[in-house]
This record gives sequence, C-alpha cells and structure tokens, in this order.
Amino acid sequence: MRRWSELAERVAATTRTSEKTGLLAAYLRELESDELPIAAVFLTGRPFAEADGRATGLGWATIAATVADVAGVGRSALGEAYDRSSDLGRAVHDVLEAAGHAPDPDVSPTLPEVAEAISRVEVASGPAAKAAILAELLGRCDPLTAKHIVKVLSGDLRIGLREGLVEAAIARAFQRDLDAVKWAGMLIGDVGRLAGLARDDRLADATLRLFHPIKFMLASPAEDAAEILNRLGPTVWVEDKYDGIRAQLHKSGGDVRLYSRDLHDVSRQFPEIVDAARELAWNGMLDGEILGFRDGTVLPFIALQARLGRKDPSLRIRSEVPVVFVAFDALGLGPGDSAVVEPLLRLPLTERRKRLEEVGLPAPSAGGAFALSHLTRADSLDELETRFAEARARRNEGLMVKDPASLYSPGRRGMGWLKMKKALATIDCVVVGVEVGHGKRHGVLSDYTFAVRDEANDRLVTIGKAYSGLTDAEIAEMTRWFDAHTVSRHGRYRVVEPSVVVEIAFDAILRSTRHKSGFALRFPRIIGLRPDKPASEAETLDAVRRLHGELQQGAEQLVTAGARES
Ligand code: AMP
Repeated sequence: MRRWSELAERVAATTRTSEKTGLLAAYLRELESDELPIAAVFLTGRPFAEADGRATGLGWATIAATVADVAGVGRSALGEAYDRSSDLGRAVHDVLEAAGHAPDPDVSPTLPEVAEAISRVEVASGPAAKAAILAELLGRCDPLTAKHIVKVLSGDLRIGLREGLVEAAIARAFQRDLDAVKWAGMLIGDVGRLAGLARDDRLADATLRLFHPIKFMLASPAEDAAEILNRLGPTVWVEDKYDGIRAQLHKSGGDVRLYSRDLHDVSRQFPEIVDAARELAWNGMLDGEILGFRDGTVLPFIALQARLGRKDPSLRIRSEVPVVFVAFDALGLGPGDSAVVEPLLRLPLTERRKRLEEVGLPAPSAGGAFALSHLTRADSLDELETRFAEARARRNEGLMVKDPASLYSPGRRGMGWLKMKKALATIDCVVVGVEVGHGKRHGVLSDYTFAVRDEANDRLVTIGKAYSGLTDAEIAEMTRWFDAHTVSRHGRYRVVEPSVVVEIAFDAILRSTRHKSGFALRFPRIIGLRPDKPASEAETLDAVRRLHGELQQGAEQLVTAGARES
C-alpha cells in the first residue's frame, strides 16, 4: 500500500494526462495477480468496485475520531487540519505527521491486507466495531499510507484521475486495444476485474450478465433547441423528462431485481413492479424510471420520496403511492425459457425501442405496473419548442432528446442523449455545512450550506445557504445523519461529509463574492433530498455559469420587450 500511495502522489504531481497514464501503466504492469485488481479499484477512488454492492458504512466522523485516537490527539485537531485543506486525506497526513506517528515499516500493510481489513469493516456492525478495525489498520501505516487509505475510504482521492484514465493505463500496461478495454469496462463495472482480464488477454469474456447491473447511460445538458438539432438532427426523438428514480430491471424467469443508479439492489422497495415483472414471458434487462402513479396520473417526486429507502413498504404506503416502471430502453433480451440474453447495447436506439415495444409491457390498467416512455419525433426548431412547452404544461422538468441512431453507452454522459430543461429549473447541490436552526427548529440541524462541483479544480464550491424546507421527520433523520458525519465544528456551524444531495429552487442566480463559486442564489429553497443521486452527480459550476448567462439574456429580452410595448 505504501508503493500505491507513492504512485498516487506522483500521479497527483503532474497535470499531464500522458504522463499520468505512463506512470500508472508502468506501475500496474509490475503488480502480482492478487494486487492488480485491488490497486486498480483503489485508483478510481473507491474501496469496492462500482458493480460491487458493498459499502464500508464508515462515516467521516468515525474516520476522523479514529485518526485522532491513533495520533493520540484531541478530536478538534483533525477538524482544524481539515479546515485548512478541505481534504480529509491530507488532514489525516498532517495530524499523524505532527504527532510523530512512525510505526515500524515492516508492519506496513500490503494491498491485499488493506482490502481484507476494508472487507472486515464492511461486515462489522456499528461504528465502534468498524472503528476498531480501522484503528488497527491505520496504526500500522506511516502518515502517507494512512492518508491514501483514508482517501480511498472517503471516496475523495483528488489526484486528478478519472476512470477513463485508469482504463487507458490498463490498455497501455498490457498492450490491449483501448476501445476493447473501455467496452469491457462498461459491461462489467469492475475496473479490478477488468485489469485482470486485460492482463490475461480475456477481454472477450466480459459480457452482459443478468443480475450484474451495468452503469446507466447519462444525458448531457443542452443550451437550447437549436443546439439540440445541430448536434442530433435533422430528426430527433423526444421523450418527456420524468422526475422519478432511475432504475434497471433484470429478469430471469421468476427472479426479478431492480437496481438504482448507484447500482444497488432496490427491489424490496418496489414489490409491485417486481411481482408484475415475474409473470412476463421474456428474460432481460430494461432501463427506465420509477414514478409514483395513481389513477392514471404521475405523482410528483415528493410523493415518491415517502417510499425511498423503505424496504418492504406497508400496504398503506403502497396504496397511497403506487409506482410504475416507465421503460425507455432495452439493454438485453431473450426468450422466457432460456437463460441466454442477447446484448442490445450496440444496436441503434431505433432497434432497441422496437425490441422494447415488442415485449408488450402490461399497463397498470391491465394488472401490470409498466408504461413505455412517451415518444415523439421532431425535425424543426418549432416542433421541438412545442414539445418542450407541452412537456412543461404536463409539469415535467423538460425533455430528453435522443439521437435515434445512438448506441447505449453505459456510464457515459455522451451526446447521444441531451436534456432540455426549463431555464429556471432547480439545481442539485451537495450539503457541505449545517447549523442548528432558530425558533422551533432549535436543537436540530436545519440550516444547510450547499455547494456545486467545480470540475476543473476537482473540488466543491459553496453557492448558497437555506433553511430546510424538509418535513420535521426528515429534519430529525438528517440531524442524526449529520451528527454522525460531522468533520469539524465552529460554534454553531459544522463542516459535514459532503455526500447529501438536495434539490434547490431559486428565483435568480447572481454574481457574488460571498460564496466560493462566485455566484449566489436569490431566495434559495430546499425542495427535497435526492437520496437517489450521489454527490458526484450534483450540478457543476460550469452549468451554473451557463444558467446564469441564459437567465441574464432572458432578463434583457424581457426588458426590451417591455420597452417596445410602452
Ligand atoms: P438529470 O437528473 O437532470 O441529470 O437528468 C438525467 C436523468 O433524467 C436520468 O438519469 C433519468 O433518471 C432521468 N430521465 C427522465 N426521463 C428520462 C427519459 N425519458 N430518458 C432517459 N432518462 C430520463
């Protein structure tokens, strides 16, 4: 692990992509077969592979308290170090170094030993048991190694590595075709296994497998209808952009499972969809959105939220918020009496949609729990604008515009799908700080400071602060969560682990020096939690910049129109 940490430092020290890839390739090539998968997964800044459903369950507060114990310092020391760098790994390094933590290098853990300890943390129950394993592990590490173990555990590597770069390094290390590596990586969602397959020249073994969820295809934001037609035209496919929960449905006979966009099994939250799918005469994998749906109409996201995170929902909640699976893509299909599923990802959307329609999904009125996304075609600006207005009238967020010739590219925010949102849409932000509220909200952490992602600098930058618009029950639950994930305290204000995503509505975006983003939101309101979204999918600073420009333009047009009328 010490060598891995040194490599990570070298990778962080250069901004040149080719140099990063070269360093990584040389390193990966030298590893033993039991080290290679672990090293590759850690390089993507996660303790477990993406397709691996496990999570350590270690909050930042537990990590911070454990490090303070290992260093023999008070808990505030780490908080202060974190405030200097906003980087938990670096803070850990600084605190351990200042404390003179220097264990015998002979006991420094190997990569397999670190992976084994992390697996034990995952199965240990309760923060105390998890912390004990972590303390034993970090106790054996010099400050640099501890820094990187904590970076991997907190999912916050910040050495300027994207998964694509690790794939490029794998291709280069074992002299394989980059496209073949990427394709296999998309299918298996496990960069560790991918590295092993590349080394053994077995990339062809990577196939679509039922009950092994693949990453979801994502959409890029589009400025306006003209840009959409320029990119995808002349004829585009237009679907409503539904505001529900993205899900992948896998089915083999009576065995049915649903996976969320972070690839976790959420089947037990939506038993009516699972039960309805069991009866169907095909096997395969579909992509779609789960929506609250009652009496023929879609319920708002906020209604669906009551069901999120609840396994085995009661009959009452099931009848209050019934759900449907709105399918918009078929990833693989096969006959119901065979386990063989034909991968469809590399067929154009036109063909995939045809196959999806042939499946014959039963609607709620026919005793099913399915619908097909509403699909139309547009080939002019006017038509696209009309569709957009219609979708808005239906109270949907906007449109998903798709290139009918596009292939399904898992995990990529490609140009095959573009999302067209209304100008004054909401933005998804990450909560970075919380405070105790006032009045009836005193005693609970109800004031949130939130941030967007500054991708260029690999950091979060604050954009606003709002009193929680959440329900009392949600605030109480979030207070407990933030308590367990506080990194440092400053009077009333607490810096918290940046992983809760909230949807924020606002009246305007203003330039401001008050927040690190350089922008502030006028009258921000927290619409709700987005537990379905990881922090890595929060809005970017670039998107905020663009939105600010658009809104300003809109405001100028309003003024000129007004002037002409008077
Ligand atoms: P956003 O959450 O704004 O980044 O938009 C992307 C998300 O929109 C996807 O991950 C889906 O969950 C959702 N979505 C809604 N309607 C559709 C649709 N018709 N096709 C694809 N994705 C959709």
